[in-house]
Amino acid sequence: MHTAHDREARRLDKLAELDILDTPRELAFDRLTTLTRKIFRVPMSTLTFIDGHRQWVKAADGLDLRETDRRPAPCNVTIALDDPLVVHDMLLDPRFADNIFVRGAPFVRFYAGAQIKVAGVVVGSLCAIDTRPREDFDTEATAILVDLAAIAGDELQLRNLSMLDSLTGTSSRRAFRSEGERLTSLAGRHASPLACAVLDVDHFKQVNDRYGHAVGDMVLAAVADTARSSLRGSDVIGRLGGEEFGVLLPHTRLDQAMGVLEKVRAAIAATRIDTPAGTIGVTCSLGGAVLSPGQCFDDILRNADLAMYGAKQAGRNQALAWVDPAPSIAPTARRVFKAGTISFNAGHSTVNCTVRGLSRDSATIEVISTSGIPEQFKLAIAADALSRACRITAKADNRIEVAFT
Ligand code: GH3
Ligand code: MG
Ligand code: MG
Repeated sequence: MHTAHDREARRLDKLAELDILDTPRELAFDRLTTLTRKIFRVPMSTLTFIDGHRQWVKAADGLDLRETDRRPAPCNVTIALDDPLVVHDMLLDPRFADNIFVRGAPFVRFYAGAQIKVAGVVVGSLCAIDTRPREDFDTEATAILVDLAAIAGDELQLRNLSMLDSLTGTSSRRAFRSEGERLTSLAGRHASPLACAVLDVDHFKQVNDRYGHAVGDMVLAAVADTARSSLRGSDVIGRLGGEEFGVLLPHTRLDQAMGVLEKVRAAIAATRIDTPAGTIGVTCSLGGAVLSPGQCFDDILRNADLAMYGAKQAGRNQALAWVDPAPSIAPTARRVFKAGTISFNAGHSTVNCTVRGLSRDSATIEVISTSGIPEQFKLAIAADALSRACRITAKADNRIEVAFT
């Protein structure tokens, strides 16, 4: 029991580090599902990762799927194992005979899943799926599937080790973090100021939706170029996630940093980006913060992030500085990534969730759907041996904010 929790916690930590969930489609992974489908002559192939509450699909061929509930997903069984799971006929396997994906669409009859491992941790699986039983899927086929899954694992590991983001040429998330930690300790030792900023492109989803993903990529590269040319050579810019960048400004006080951020904001707002879909302009929101004594890199990054959210709320296309809130304000939620269980109806009903934020008296939770979840419930986080009574304070899409009661 304990080891299953450890395995779950290690997997979620690794997924957080890889930062792969909710990323757009990528050729490297699309190729693997296409190859899988062709090599094994199956109608469907998927490459998925299991989040705290959902199965998230990075690549799929022959199946139009983005995410599903975690519990019925055969891949949820696969990731708990170390060796591939091959079920020649799902109807004959008591684990799956009544499964909704077997009894209903896409009517899975044959399933073979190989674990995708990164640094020894199982994070997801690559699957071959057929609507007919497949007695012919032998040990040699299984070995090929294992090799294909290993390529997916290598790809994840390589990109994680990479120091540069391939699309924008800015530092990778990992390189940005390690540079941030180095500069934080230097600034502490030499008592010189260090500023940090977070930049997020405004309404970027609309750019993708309107002009397509390839054009979106060009816009991101142009935003990174413009930001970089407004910064000094000694400043560091890195890609933190999809359309979000971090900036480190050594030897810079907050007022000076805000001057730089305003310059970056104006330069991006003024840039006209030539693309095959026409000339496009975007704006961005920025937040800046400065290192206080005793703080670590995560503190300053979080404060810059909070300031950036402030800039979004204040109407976007602006740069705001982080201000120390009055000490009476409850501590902000720490960003976490933990599997949780919501239970209600005297424990008879349970819903899987992922806990994204956690403080002493509140939590931010993600679920597949908020419908059917009552105003009050119990939240359990197995990895922390935590169980708290909760009351919903806010609800949006698939997110719930709760206060512990
Ligand atoms: P907001 O002003 O609140 O930041 O709105 P937004 O639309 O920018 O924010 P949201 O987080 O809803 O959407 C970000 C979008 O960025 C969603 C995702 O598809 C897209 N995206 C993330 N990474 C990439 C990428 O590498 N390339 C492209 N083209 N799009 C990406
Ligand atoms: Mg954005
Ligand atoms: Mg964003």
